Amino acid sequence: MSQNFIPAAEAINKLIQEFNKLPGIGPKSAQRLVFYLLRAPDEQTKLLAEAILSLKQKITLCSICLNVTESDPCPICRSDQRDRTKICIVEQPQDILALEHTGIYQGLYHVLHGAITPTEGIGADDIRIKELLNRLQDGSVTEVILATNTNLEGEQTAMYLSHLISPTGIKVTRLARGLPFGTELEYADDVTLTRAIEGRQEF
Ligand SMILES: [Zn+2]
Repeated sequence: MSQNFIPAAEAINKLIQEFNKLPGIGPKSAQRLVFYLLRAPDEQTKLLAEAILSLKQKITLCSICLNVTESDPCPICRSDQRDRTKICIVEQPQDILALEHTGIYQGLYHVLHGAITPTEGIGADDIRIKELLNRLQDGSVTEVILATNTNLEGEQTAMYLSHLISPTGIKVTRLARGLPFGTELEYADDVTLTRAIEGRQEF
């Protein structure tokens, strides 16, 4: 009995530790999830394990906009329905989900994969700005919409990009101030985001 108990406990502890590393999951929640899975049908745990594995195997970054995608270029970059004169710049792929959910924006995107954060040693070269500048080279883009978060890092990043891009003659706009300071785009509601896109102002 005790021989069986130790390996089983190890397996439980290991999974609790892994869940505990996820954002928003404390030790208690991690424990609850693990004991839930222990009681769940084998099929369910198998599907979960497979979904986690395929996440890393199937998902890649779009070589154009750097959004997460299963096919490169991503469906947005490939689409002939999108307005190719506009690029909306966001910090994270999940920000695109939030903006797409509003249905109001029809242009293209560019994912920076972060924001300039000097306190953490993240500078302009550490996020995907170079790729953005390359995309602006051919002159087809006439407006860049800065949709970085409205916190300090997002504002600093928007400021930096504006200084870089404005001299090229491309119109630079920023989401309207309807978004309260400190807002992370992915958590903003549709109505607020729609207003912010529609009311974007030159920056
Ligand atoms: Zn793309």
